[in-house]
Amino acid sequence: MKKIISSIFILSLLIQTSCFVKYENKKETIILNPYEEIDWGKIKRYKINFHTHTTESDGKEPFEKVISLYKLKNYSAIAITDHNKLTFPKTDNLFLIPGVEFGKNHQHHIVSLFSFEIPENIEKLKEEEILEYIDKEKGVAFFAHPGRYKKDIGWYINLFERYKNLIGIEVLNTGIQVKGKVYGDTDIWDEILKKTMPERPVWGFGNDDFHNISQFAINWNILLIEKLEEKEIRDAIKKGKFYMCSAILGTDLPHLKKIIVNKEIGKIKIYCENYKEIKWISQGNIVGYGKEINYKKSNNIKGYLRVEIHGKTGFIYLNPFGIK
Ligand SMILES: [Zn+2]
Repeated sequence: MKKIISSIFILSLLIQTSCFVKYENKKETIILNPYEEIDWGKIKRYKINFHTHTTESDGKEPFEKVISLYKLKNYSAIAITDHNKLTFPKTDNLFLIPGVEFGKNHQHHIVSLFSFEIPENIEKLKEEEILEYIDKEKGVAFFAHPGRYKKDIGWYINLFERYKNLIGIEVLNTGIQVKGKVYGDTDIWDEILKKTMPERPVWGFGNDDFHNISQFAINWNILLIEKLEEKEIRDAIKKGKFYMCSAILGTDLPHLKKIIVNKEIGKIKIYCENYKEIKWISQGNIVGYGKEINYKKSNNIKGYLRVEIHGKTGFIYLNPFGIK
């Protein structure tokens, strides 16, 4: 009897130890949520276009008119980003973010916010030299309309790894969309995210790239911040606390209320009204539909997870969650 009891004891000890070892070896799935810091009851939604031209470069409208157009459409702010030139007039009409679009024909265009000096030899610089300059000047940069170029994905990855103030790409750009890619450069975005996530997020921007009235109020970004001031804007665009919207197919857009992540069970839930379909995307593939997903239970989710919310006509793209 004693022998039996002691063997049961040893057996149970073995089971416990093996369970313990198993638990220790089990890797926890971690989520990196760009919207984590947001207090949904406190923030306001600021509608912003980060890519706008005026007659100071190749735009067709003077800046006074551009500013009042955006004001009339209830934008909170715009960045006037003339080519290799700072256009930053004093105005009480609308909040302006200082910006420039660096690059000429042979260079990949780069929009820089909050850095305004233009290097003298700008047209001779390589993209890496422009990015180095923006880093030094403490600007915040994103690649404009990547769909216009035939760049190797490795070219982008290398630059994202090297320049910390390079924070995203323009996924939605009116010029690209009217040429057939109505849903924007999501293909390029996914190819980049496949390689950089979860360690290095690459945020997606949606802009008009306004040159004339046909490129007005088509795409915009909603910044989720408390106050419209430089510090908060910088923080939000560096951390991805925004999402992009498009009205290229019509102005009936979904209304995003909030995004809640339950880390314990691994669930992300989108609170949204007026939508037709929600798509969850990882590694360039659709991995789920509907308001919620469990990232701990799906084997198809690797590196990142991003969300597209499609309304009757308009649509919203969220910034990617990192999945580790
Ligand atoms: Zn432009």
